This record gives sequence, structure tokens and C-alpha cells, in this order.
Amino acid sequence: MIKKQLFSPGPTPVPERVLLAMAGPVMHHRDPGYEVLFQEVREGLKYVFQTKQEVLVLASSGTGAMEAAVCNTLSRGDEALVVRGGKFGERWGEICEAYGVNVTPLDVTWGQAVDPGLIKKALDAKPAIKAVLVQASETSTGVMHPIKEIADIVKNRAGTILIVDAISALGVSDLPMDQWGLDVVVSGSQKALMLPPGLAFIALSAKAWGFAEKANLPKFYFNLKEELAVAQKNQSQFTPAISLIVGLREALKMLKEEGLENVFKRHALLARATREAAKALGLELLAPTAPSDALTAIKAPEGVDGKKLKKNFEDQFGLIIAGGQSQLKGKIIRIAHIGYFQSLDIIQAVSTLELVLKGLGYPVKLGAGVKVAEEILSAA
Ligand SMILES: *Cc1c(COP(=O)(O)O)cnc(C)c1O
Repeated sequence: MIKKQLFSPGPTPVPERVLLAMAGPVMHHRDPGYEVLFQEVREGLKYVFQTKQEVLVLASSGTGAMEAAVCNTLSRGDEALVVRGGKFGERWGEICEAYGVNVTPLDVTWGQAVDPGLIKKALDAKPAIKAVLVQASETSTGVMHPIKEIADIVKNRAGTILIVDAISALGVSDLPMDQWGLDVVVSGSQKALMLPPGLAFIALSAKAWGFAEKANLPKFYFNLKEELAVAQKNQSQFTPAISLIVGLREALKMLKEEGLENVFKRHALLARATREAAKALGLELLAPTAPSDALTAIKAPEGVDGKKLKKNFEDQFGLIIAGGQSQLKGKIIRIAHIGYFQSLDIIQAVSTLELVLKGLGYPVKLGAGVKVAEEILSAA
């Protein structure tokens, strides 16, 4: 027997409460009960996004909201500054290019955070840049970009908005949209929101809605102005992913019960325990200086194949982790601690790491990582 468990940075484990909530019969979205449900969900999303703006709910994976961010705020031929420090940064560039938006790439070594000074420099050099697109947490490398510092640079430029892919950061780390002046914030259901894949979320600042007035890129399914108008009546333009919205209400309740502050603290603690345990085993982190609290990217040690590491996690112990993508293929493993995770999950992941490394002939002192993780978790 092997018990499969998700330790991947999306999809992530779904709490029993949420699964049970979704198991009921599908209600009709024109039923008055749906309006009550959606009203509650809208309030909960504002709490998690830390905004007074409407958070729009789309039936798509997270990338749908990324696409919506671009085609609703920009126009053909506009200039965009794209922070490319991983696979998801590259995706911003690909979406812009698909829509005829001119990309000025700001390439960052994978595993490092962008230097905000370089963003300021790029904006000063090319004042025509209409949008800065960045990840909060770059899931392919496990890096957290300095969003507050970037927002401080962008927010006083009337002609530029900051578009943040917070798909693996929202509900993990503090990212107060209104307080920091983030213009577009995007997220998805299958990360810290503890749901199956299928929902994407997007919120726009007043400044970004101003951009939306002038944006001329084509759009139909993801027309956010039209979505806003109906969302405020607790409706949606098209058939919503009703069962997922029912689950979302439950997941949002859980976040509210724990309190955002505690949610952030929990993620920070689990992340620190994972990082320190890996180091105690003599392993190197891919992002030692600016790690995301959503996941830990660990370099496969010399002579150990990262693909084999990931495979053995799953085949021998049932833990589904992630490997490296593109240039990091076979070079790293990524262990997630985003969403429905608690301290003992980390012990399990670290213990598995020790066992798998030992199985591959890497000299590991069994329990050395677990010990460090337990020390950190018990001191909290
Ligand atoms: C998961 C993820 C995405 C992609 O989301 P999909 O739901 O697969 O479309 C985009 N950006 C980041 C940072 C992510 O973690």
C-alpha cells in the first residue's frame, strides 16, 4: 500500500471540510441561495486580498487571471517591463507577446530576487512603460520578490501600474494590496486557498481600473469590466464553477478563523523549519537569500539526480513533490508547504528527504534534519 500525499506547490492538499462542502448537490447559480453564497465569498476574498476593491472570480486556472490582467489593462503596442526570474516570469512575457504588448525583459538569475533598483532604472530609462509585471513568489525557483519595494517605485508614476502574480503568495505571506498600492493582484484556487484547481482571482486598484477604461486589447470571456458589473449583483457573466465556489466559502472561513496573521506565521515557521532541516543535511538551497514561504527549492547534491530524488519521494513514500523546470530540470526538488500544511507534515517531508537521500547513497545522518526541524517547530 502507498498513501499518496501532495507536497507540490499546486495542486495542494484540500481540507476535509472543504471536500465535504463540495460534495453536495450542485445548486443553480440563478437560485437566490447562490447570491447569498457569492456575497459571502466576495467578502472573504476581500479579506484575503486585503483590499476594498472587488475580487473577481474566474472559472479558469491561475494563468487565466494572468491573461485577464494583461488584456484588460494594456493596449496593442504598449510597453511592459517583465521580471523574468523563472518559468512564471517568462509566462508574463509570453502572454504580453501573444497580445502584441512590447516586452522589456528584466532577466534575473534563477534563484535570486529582483533588485528593485533595476526596476527604477528601467522605468527612468523608458518612461513609456505602462506596466511592471512580476511574481510575488516565483514558484519555479522558490524566490520571493520584494513586492513592497517595487510598489514604492511604481505607485507614484501615474502612467505605470504594477501587476503582481500572487498565485503562490496570497494567503502565504503578507501582501496587503491596498496598503502597499498594488494595482493588479492575481491568484488561483489550488495553492494557499486550499481548493482543487479551477478558479482564478483578480483584483484591480482604482488606478488599474482607469487603465482598463483605455485598454484596447481583445477580450471576451475575461472582460473584467463586465464581470465587475455583474459580480456586484452577486452574479457572474457565465456559469460559475459552482461547486468550487461552495468549497471556496469553506476555505475562506478556515482562513478567517485562523486569522491572516496566524496564517502568515504558520507558513513562515514551516518554511524556516524546512530550509534549516535541508541545510542540516548538508544540502544547498536554490534561493538562500530571498526564499518564498510557499515552498523550499533544494539543490540535488553532487552526484544525485534530482529527477530520481523526486521519483523516489513518490514511488517509495507516496509524497508528491515537484522537480525543477526548464533550466533547473533534474537539478532541484521543490517541497511545498503552502495551504493546508501543519508542523508534522514538515517532519514527514524532512524524514522522507533523509530516507530517499540515504537510499541513493548520499551520506546522511538519519534524524539530523528532523531534529533541527523539531527544534524550530517546538520553539515556536
Ligand atoms: C501555479 C502558478 C501559476 C500557474 O497557475 P495555473 O493554475 O497552472 O494556470 C502561475 N504563477 C505562479 C507563481 C504559480 O505558482
